[in-house]
Amino acid sequence: MRSYIYAPGPTPVPPHVTLKMSEPILNHRSPEYVRLFEEVTEHLKYVFQTAHDVLTFTASGTGAMEAAVANLLSPGDRAVVIRAGKFGGRWAELCAAYGVEAVPIDVEWGHAVDPSVVADVLSRESGIKAVFATHSETSTGVLHDIETLGRVVSGRDVLFVVDAISGLGANDLRPDDWHVDVVVSGSQKGLMLPPGLAFASVGPRAWAASDRATSPRYYLSFKRAKEALKKGLNPYTPAITLIMGLAEALRQIKAEGLANVFARHARLAEATRAGVRAIGLELFATRPSNVLTSVTLPAGIDGNQLLKHLKARYGIIMGGGLDHLKGKIVRIAHLGYADEFHAVVGISALEMGLAYLGYQFKVGVGVAAVQRVLTFERSNV
Ligand SMILES: *Cc1c(COP(=O)(O)O)cnc(C)c1O
Repeated sequence: MRSYIYAPGPTPVPPHVTLKMSEPILNHRSPEYVRLFEEVTEHLKYVFQTAHDVLTFTASGTGAMEAAVANLLSPGDRAVVIRAGKFGGRWAELCAAYGVEAVPIDVEWGHAVDPSVVADVLSRESGIKAVFATHSETSTGVLHDIETLGRVVSGRDVLFVVDAISGLGANDLRPDDWHVDVVVSGSQKGLMLPPGLAFASVGPRAWAASDRATSPRYYLSFKRAKEALKKGLNPYTPAITLIMGLAEALRQIKAEGLANVFARHARLAEATRAGVRAIGLELFATRPSNVLTSVTLPAGIDGNQLLKHLKARYGIIMGGGLDHLKGKIVRIAHLGYADEFHAVVGISALEMGLAYLGYQFKVGVGVAAVQRVLTFERSNV
């Protein structure tokens, strides 16, 4: 059976990318590889929208999150952690693992952090070395206001680190203009690859911090990665196959143009949200990201049952709620290799699943709303 991926990672991989990854493997010390990796790094800087370094690690996205904590901080340091979902919580766990005292700002899941709360905490607390935030919180579907948060953090001797593992290439993020020192991401979301690569953009203030920090690091050392990168290499054997695929995926993004990639994600997200509302359901996220649409399920509809049915009957794979949201929300990604009919089919599947489980509504209203938005490219029709 054909499968349709609506999970917010791993996302669908374009056929051209898959083909590149099935080509004979390069040697990671060869001139051909150096050429490829230098191209990849240039294109990554384009997608990260930074003039500074972008480092590539062989790890899932969490590896780059760990690298940020290990390279920037020392045991006993204090850091503010914005916890507005599962992935924000991961920053706090990483801090604990490295002996960094996390000062959490807990935000109700489904909401974005209020930047003025972050400002208050920074004014009140002493000795804060870093603020850890999430761009698009994939567990809730919320987009945090990184630009305003960056303004709040700037002007202080505090680093700003952002997890854009799902948000990169879907929602705008400008680290050099928004005072973000480190952005981390991974391969299996907006970059349309299988999992296995992690990335970190590292600005000048972060490099200075990395020289001072005393946390142990080896495999995920920013410095080692940068030294090797000067020669177009990686310090250890990289996931060469994934780098070959990444080169192709980045060429596709470059050819489409980043602004168009953002606009496409915005359009698909807007259409999906319109479809959800037309069915009579509510969005879970109060400040929705263009990465995915999280939907609050009506009373009497069990999300686990819904997902199970969609997978077994139609091969549709959507995301469910994590932790306390299990069974209560469904998460529909429109990320990476996604087009207009991806959005149409997603809402169609949601309708068919809901109807099967006995939810009362007029089947087709959601699809019609999606079609209207995609046809006329505006939501108020
Ligand atoms: C997927 C994701 C992660 C986890 O990345 P892994 O590749 O599973 O390590 C972290 N943060 C966000 C926002 C994500 O979407």
